[in-house]
Amino acid sequence: MCLGCGLRQPKREMLRIVRTPEGEIKIDPTGRMNGRGCYICKNRNCMAAAVRQKKLSRSFDTVVGPEVYSRVSEEFAEWLSVNGGQNIEQ
Ligand SMILES: [Zn+2]
Repeated sequence: MCLGCGLRQPKREMLRIVRTPEGEIKIDPTGRMNGRGCYICKNRNCMAAAVRQKKLSRSFDTVVGPEVYSRVSEEFAEWLSVNGGQNIEQ
């Protein structure tokens, strides 16, 4: 389920965000990194909504600072600009 819009989408339409066993939070384009994962549609609006609602903190059950949110948002946007988002009709 997408952290931003709450819709269930096929995994290929979504980007995984992972919290590694070391506690690092980052995007996981391969979907195979160790750690707890959550998914966001390949859509900037969904990332923005997840940030606005502090969904990463809730999903990972930990304190996620503003700097982590902005870094993950940047990684997400960068990934999208390189790989494109097929699912941008929202
Ligand atoms: Zn979404």
